[in-house]
Amino acid sequence: MQVRDILQHKGQQVHSIEPEATLTQAAQKMMEHRCGSLVVQVQDQLVGIITERDVLRVCATGQSLGTVCVHEQMTRRVVTGSPADDLRSIMGVLTNKRVRHLPVLEEGKLVGMISIGDVVKSQYDELAFENHVLKSYIHS
Ligand code: AMP
Repeated sequence: MQVRDILQHKGQQVHSIEPEATLTQAAQKMMEHRCGSLVVQVQDQLVGIITERDVLRVCATGQSLGTVCVHEQMTRRVVTGSPADDLRSIMGVLTNKRVRHLPVLEEGKLVGMISIGDVVKSQYDELAFENHVLKSYIHS
């Protein structure tokens, strides 16, 4: 199983935000799209990633989200994957880098986003299918 197989099922949409937006706007966008991360882009260039964890960090300080900009809290060195990466290596990256979101790039262009939830779902589907095949074999 490769990253491209997961993207084929879930689609290539990646939600983004600009660096000058406030964290209130980032939180609203994450709620609107039911996602936990946004890539930060300037003229189609990936300049960072902001996730719910970054928003929570600011909440914990008591600061108002409307007074803090995305560029102040985003991570600039973004870890990315490629469509040809296999699922095992992606699991390793997510675990070792301690991130739950991986933007996928192909020839420098953003072509999707893989979350740890997508990886768990894909593993679950594969196990459920194997289980079904084995049960059919046993009962045939
Ligand atoms: P997450 O577990 O994905 O919510 O992110 C935890 C922390 O890692 C946050 O500070 C994010 O900004 C950062 N982060 C998340 N995904 C990535 C990524 N693909 N590359 C670099 N940093 C990331």
